[in-house]
Amino acid sequence: MNDTFTFETAKKKPSPRWQAVQRFASTLRSQGFLPRMHFIDRIAERDLGGGIRFDPRTFRSEFFRAAHYRQTRPGYKLRIAVVRGVPILYRVGGRSGKQIVLAGALPPGSDLPPSERISAPRQQETQFEFEQEEAAYDRSKAVRLNRCMREWLGWNEYRDEIYALLGFTRICPTEAALADAVRRWQEHHQLEPDGILGLDTLNSLDARLGYPTLTTEPAQPFWVAWEPSPNFSARDGQPIDTIVLHATGGGSVRGALQRFKNRKSEASAHYVVLRNGNVLQLVELGNAAWHTSTKSTNIPNMNQRSIGIEIVCPGGRRSTSAITVCEDEHGSGTRWTCDRSTRLTPLKPLATYYRPKAVERFVPYSEAQYRSVIKLVTYLVSCIPTIRLITGHEHVHKWHVPGKRFKNRVDPGGQFDWPRLESALASVFSGHICHRFSRLSSGANTLNPAWRDQCGGLP
Ligand SMILES: [Zn+2]
Repeated sequence: MNDTFTFETAKKKPSPRWQAVQRFASTLRSQGFLPRMHFIDRIAERDLGGGIRFDPRTFRSEFFRAAHYRQTRPGYKLRIAVVRGVPILYRVGGRSGKQIVLAGALPPGSDLPPSERISAPRQQETQFEFEQEEAAYDRSKAVRLNRCMREWLGWNEYRDEIYALLGFTRICPTEAALADAVRRWQEHHQLEPDGILGLDTLNSLDARLGYPTLTTEPAQPFWVAWEPSPNFSARDGQPIDTIVLHATGGGSVRGALQRFKNRKSEASAHYVVLRNGNVLQLVELGNAAWHTSTKSTNIPNMNQRSIGIEIVCPGGRRSTSAITVCEDEHGSGTRWTCDRSTRLTPLKPLATYYRPKAVERFVPYSEAQYRSVIKLVTYLVSCIPTIRLITGHEHVHKWHVPGKRFKNRVDPGGQFDWPRLESALASVFSGHICHRFSRLSSGANTLNPAWRDQCGGLP
């Protein structure tokens, strides 16, 4: 599979010139070289342009007599041989561990990258080096991305763009084909074989598509229990750019599920995070859940553009009397049981809450919930680079005007530790986490100017 040459050329009609180049490539293979697509492309360009021609009969001896260099930039492992003034990028390896892999070529006479002179390789270089290289290529990462893409995977446009960039015309290539295409991409772009979820590789793909640069690798797919809700609609091609956090407003998941699974409620969310940290998924990411609305927020396509996460927590209370919450709920469908419940006292808002004098009190969220919310959000933002805003329902909801139909929303509320989420996401999310603004001070239905400042005009 290493010596097929369909990548990026499958749509080209083979010209006699191209066929000649392919014959050249096949001669090189018979001499122990492994010419890569990028190399062949470059050689073909020169040939077509009437520039420097390489003779397959003499190429081998010219290559071994050439000046050879090792790159000194950290991370650049390809060596360089200057043959007839053309810097040829290569490494020793291939399947046998003895082949010279011709990875690419620079324009004739180009300045070499920082490098030092070395002697020509022996074609007997150790198997060891090759094995190390192979081990570094983590096929499981390619599998992970494929899964990642298929899952949220309703973000079909991004997935299809990446696949198209890798030379696939059909969506959902096999994982082996994806891994091979990624490896060819890496060779073509002189990237380390770090798997498709390797930062450099993904960023090189994203950069080509105009997406922002990621700073850490996408997280592992987040596995959740499936509890389908009938309450969803199409995203209508709207890219996902927002995550909205909510509180369910009850001490157990049971009531929330009854509501979210009931058509008449017209309410749902993509995920529900239980107090024990378990995560349920109710709506596929490719569809819009009904966790807020355009009418109640004045934000266009609010549900179509967002992911809704409900965290199990009794809503805001005026009273200080203890509330029963379930700590180890388990079950499925409509059958949910609780073996261990606790009485917890609703507390005043945390000092970091945007309305420190808010009268509503909240039961604190559990440690397990923070861990799961952080893991889930990390997974989502790393898999869906279009997400630019993470906020709470209370922050996007229009504030209540007496006599109007919308009720106030105070979720996830004064006990949700936003700074904790911010610091956990600091290295993985470059968008905005917006929780320090109020619509109270700015009149009923207009956004607070402070929000615009903090959120860079989003949404
Ligand atoms: Zn809500």
